[in-house]
Amino acid sequence: TINENGRLRIAIQKSGRLSDSSQDLFKRCGLKISLADRKLLAHVGNMPIDLMLVRSSDIPGLVMDGVCDLGIVGDNTLEEHALQRQLNGEPSAYDKICSLKFGGCRLSIALPEEIDYQGIQSLDGMRLATTYPRLLNRFAQQHGIRFETCRLNGSVEVAPRVGLADGICDLVSTGTTLEANGLKEVEVIYTSKAALISGDKPLSGTKAQIFDKLLPRIQGVLKARE
Ligand code: ATP
Repeated sequence: TINENGRLRIAIQKSGRLSDSSQDLFKRCGLKISLADRKLLAHVGNMPIDLMLVRSSDIPGLVMDGVCDLGIVGDNTLEEHALQRQLNGEPSAYDKICSLKFGGCRLSIALPEEIDYQGIQSLDGMRLATTYPRLLNRFAQQHGIRFETCRLNGSVEVAPRVGLADGICDLVSTGTTLEANGLKEVEVIYTSKAALISGDKPLSGTKAQIFDKLLPRIQGVLKARE
C-alpha cells in the first residue's frame, strides 16, 4: 500500500504559523531532522520517521486517508475538513492524540466598526466571507440564524471593504489585522490550538512500536513547557 515502508510518516505544515513550532517539537523530542529545501519528505536520521511537509489544509485529508500516520494541524482546519468530508460522504474519522501548546487562535465574526451590533440576531440575513464555511454554518444552525457565506481562501479581511460581504468570519490572535481593516470582533465562534492527530485505525506492528517510543517524548516536551 501507499504508506507501508516501516517508517512512521508525520504530516506537518511546510511553511506558515505552525511550521516552526511543529519542527521544534520533534527536535525537542531528540529527532535529527534533515530538511532539504523544497523537499516533500524530510528524513529523521536517528529514528524510522519521515516528516511530510505540506499545506496545513491538506493535513486532515492525508491522515484520514491513511497517507500519513500522524499530523499536526489546527483544530479549526481539522474540524472544518471533518465536517466537509461528512457532507461529501468521505472518510472523516481521526483520533486526537493530544492538544499541543502552540497555534492558539480563535475563529471570530467581525463586522465593520460603524455597524451597530445588538447581539447574534444582528447577523441574520448578512453575507459573511470566510475560509471556514462549515464551522460558520454550524454556528448559525446552533443559534437559529441564517446568513449567506462566501468562501474566500485568503485576504478575507478585505471582503467588506470591497463590497463582497457584510462581515467576515476569520482567525484572530491579536486583533491587529481586524483593526487595520476597520473591523471589530463581535462573536468568537470557535477556539483553536494545534493538535497531534492520527487516523482511527490501529497502526501496524512496526509503526506502533515507533509511535510508542515517540509519544512519551512528546508528552515529556509538553510537560516541560507547563
Ligand atoms: P496552509 O498551510 O494551508 O497555507 P494557512 O494558510 O491556514 O494554511 P497559516 O496562516 O500559517 O496557514 O495558519 C496555520 C494555522 O495557524 C491556522 O489554521 C491556525 O490553526 C493557526 N493560527 C494561529 N494564529 C493564527 C492567526 N492569527 N491567523 C491565522 N491562523 C492562525
